[in-house]
Amino acid sequence: MKHILISGGSVAGLTLAFWLREHGFAVTVVERAPSPRDGGYKIDIRGAALDVVARMGLLEEVRRHSTDMRVARFVDARGRQTGTMSADLFGGREGDDVEIMRGDLTRLLHAAIGDTVEYVFDDSVTALRETADGVRVTFANSSPRTFDLVVGADGLHSNVRALAFGEESRYVHDLGHHISIFTVPNHLHLDRTEMMHPAPGRSTGMYSTGRGDDAKAMFLFSSPPLEYDRRDTGRQKKLLAEIFAGQGWEVPRLLDAMWDAPDFYFDSISQVRMDRWSSGRVALVGDAAYAASPASGQGTSLALVGAYVLAGCLAETAADHAAGDHAGGFAAYEREMRHFVEENQKLAANNLKGMVLKSKAQIRFQMLMLRLMPHLPGKDRMIERVTEPIRRAATAITIRDYRTPAA
Ligand SMILES: Cc1cc2nc3c(=O)[nH]c(=O)nc-3n(C[C@H](O)[C@H](O)[C@H](O)COP(=O)(O)OP(=O)(O)OC[C@H]3O[C@@H](n4cnc5c(N)ncnc54)[C@H](O)[C@@H]3O)c2cc1C
Repeated sequence: MKHILISGGSVAGLTLAFWLREHGFAVTVVERAPSPRDGGYKIDIRGAALDVVARMGLLEEVRRHSTDMRVARFVDARGRQTGTMSADLFGGREGDDVEIMRGDLTRLLHAAIGDTVEYVFDDSVTALRETADGVRVTFANSSPRTFDLVVGADGLHSNVRALAFGEESRYVHDLGHHISIFTVPNHLHLDRTEMMHPAPGRSTGMYSTGRGDDAKAMFLFSSPPLEYDRRDTGRQKKLLAEIFAGQGWEVPRLLDAMWDAPDFYFDSISQVRMDRWSSGRVALVGDAAYAASPASGQGTSLALVGAYVLAGCLAETAADHAAGDHAGGFAAYEREMRHFVEENQKLAANNLKGMVLKSKAQIRFQMLMLRLMPHLPGKDRMIERVTEPIRRAATAITIRDYRTPAA
């Protein structure tokens, strides 16, 4: 039986583990975190990715965990409401699309996998050496081992990508914005509600879903690339506090809560663009290979679909792996995924324009449009203009069946 190492146990890594097991491979998942990660923000599952989730038998459970958000309210610096829209339209969702907390999704994926794969937590790959018939892998904590193939599912700042393809500056493209998100007390008593306070060049939000008692604060701002150490959260918190100093609405209170936040996240809004997603016996999946950025709203769907396709393509060529033809599986994966990835990555730039507005005039215009929209004769066409590109991208691949090696 072929033994595949997956680095990263989040959406892409767990989905890949599930499908590789279905196809009869042995799987080890190495995850840097000390235990399954269940925190996070809300994410969307749309189009082809819903098909993947359904094939895993998880669609009903995923729907049961829907965030069930109701409304998005826009406020000015003094907290006065300036516009509203349905939460679905705000999130670019329609029809069967589901919004779920990332932690709920990874918990469901873990449960679906059960104990059919080996997990190594609190560890990380430190070196990869390809031999004639495998990859010799060195870990930070465990003893070295040899695997047939290695897949990096370790996110935007992928460690496997750095080891097998070179430093990340060659692949990670900053889209000129940063995002920060963390848990705060729900002091506004929000119930399935998003609040947004747009200001020129920076937006602040707060939301609470129907699940749990707390809320998330979200900060978005445009900026040139910023210099900071990614492990130094203290410095990142100071940066955020400086950038949002003097802002109105609830911003000071949210920044106060930031210092005690258990899950502070801060990063550039970036995309990963690569000519190839495999090199020898090493491949990449999910954000590690083709992060579309939070602004696309499609990163999770890409991770789900990419993992399903990669596992399927490897299964179909498994009989040839001994002769070194895992390359055929990797090539098929790239062929099947490339167009889907490109279509979804295209969404981000346009979405960002609406997420962080440049001037007070733009904000006033957006709020005016929000208030007028329900009364405009062409409102359906306007809504369609928002949802149609997302729907097209989310369905830009047809999920097919893959033969398992034994078939
Ligand atoms: C703030 C924010 C908002 C977002 N909003 C949305 C949204 O609305 N809709 C949407 O579809 N997507 C959204 N996304 C994107 C989405 O979260 C990702 O695209 C998706 O999680 C990709 O999954 P992944 O498994 O490829 O990577 P990740 O979820 O980033 O997982 C990578 C995993 O690898 C582990 N890891 C990292 N380094 C190592 C290492 N050296 N060794 C071992 N393990 C390692 C990490 O601990 C993690 O578990 C958002 C992202 C962010 C940051």
